[in-house]
Amino acid sequence: TPGAQWNAGDTEADAKSHLLSPSEEMAKLGQSMRPLIAYGEGIHVVDAHGRRIIDGPAGMWCTQIGYGRKEIADAVSAQALKLSYNSPWYTTNSPSAELARRIAEVTPGDLNRVFFTTGGSTAVDSALRFTEFYNNVLGRPEKKHIIVRREGYHGSTSLTAACSGRSFNWQNFDIASPRITFISSPNIRQAPGLSEAQFLDQLVREFEDTIAKIGSDKVAAFLAEPLLASGGVIIPPKGYHARIKAVCEEHDIIYISDEVVTAFGRCGEWFASEKVFGVVPDIITFAKGVTSGYVPLGGFAVSERLIAKVSGENAKGSYYSNGYTYSSHPVSCAAALANMDVIEKDGILEHVRDVAVHFAEGLRSLKGLPHVADIRVEGLVGCVECLVDPSSPEVTDRDKKLGGRIDTHCFDLGLLVRPLGNICVLSPPLIITKAEIDQMIGILRQGILKAA
Ligand code: PLP
Repeated sequence: TPGAQWNAGDTEADAKSHLLSPSEEMAKLGQSMRPLIAYGEGIHVVDAHGRRIIDGPAGMWCTQIGYGRKEIADAVSAQALKLSYNSPWYTTNSPSAELARRIAEVTPGDLNRVFFTTGGSTAVDSALRFTEFYNNVLGRPEKKHIIVRREGYHGSTSLTAACSGRSFNWQNFDIASPRITFISSPNIRQAPGLSEAQFLDQLVREFEDTIAKIGSDKVAAFLAEPLLASGGVIIPPKGYHARIKAVCEEHDIIYISDEVVTAFGRCGEWFASEKVFGVVPDIITFAKGVTSGYVPLGGFAVSERLIAKVSGENAKGSYYSNGYTYSSHPVSCAAALANMDVIEKDGILEHVRDVAVHFAEGLRSLKGLPHVADIRVEGLVGCVECLVDPSSPEVTDRDKKLGGRIDTHCFDLGLLVRPLGNICVLSPPLIITKAEIDQMIGILRQGILKAA
């Protein structure tokens, strides 16, 4: 087995002495050890003791086609041998050109120009920087303000972290930016007593008031995930994105849909913005599922309408200079092409649309268990929000501890759950079968009952 060549003791010692992970309780640096994953197979990861665990969060919402697909390994290997690297600044490679065309074919509207980066943060960062470039070329340097939602997550560069409202990520970092304004997340639980229609009106009014306060000539962009993923699987009221987009159009504000989580099949479509959430954005960002997590890649697709305003005879002598050594990386793009082939060949979008109904029914069957306060689901992303006292929506440390206990029990029973405070998130690899969904929900049920 792949794990056979692996020495768990050495890995543990190396990790404790030398690794700094993206999430560390610094008082315990080098003392504790998180589970060691030896290898992956389909929807499972296998730990150092050979225990098979269902990968409930699909890594970090990214392992769409599952682990161990030879097609991707072969594409990576062939491309690495053929051309392992070329500079995107003054040369072009064929996988990136083909991938740009294939992505343009499945984006909504006229989002036909594609820029590649190294992951989700750099995708969003570059999309925001494109809006700066755009407004500067158009001769309106004051139009730079960005509006985002409080529970949104958009990445870990300085700019994208500043657009991500969860205060937990801000601790001890200098993040706040005067040109970023937060508005409410479309979470109906935060508006007790309002109908969905009333809540939607309230959200749109808040957006309009925020623009008026800043001045519409100063607002460049609205940046939003179709559903707020890391913010706790918050699904907006029906029609939310279309209403917000209409306000953006009125004020010439660029609407950026951050599809780093929702694209490449998570909601049963290549991109979720139009077909699932009813909006054609000006820019869409993507990462994660574009390669099913086999190698890093991200990017954004921008509309021909925006590009036309800053290119050709409208370019006014401007030069677009923004990118990375690894923009359009040939090996990453070859992996993404192979990933798109697998998604097409295996009918994964259709499969997701089919099993998503079963997934939703399974999650909703947990309603009525102790502490279950809310269940939210769209496509193959879902969550169970647990509260010690479900009638009080305020989240306390006790609620977070309860969530932690559920995650631990689930792990012991063979299911990895994304630890997100009091919210148990499941977003499994898209190849999951109905029987495996039943197994996953069954374990979560036991975890919740054990923690109660
Ligand atoms: N945008 C969204 C919606 C995300 O969920 C994430 C990561 O989870 C990012 C951006 C950042 O992506 P990355 O971690 O690949 O930089």
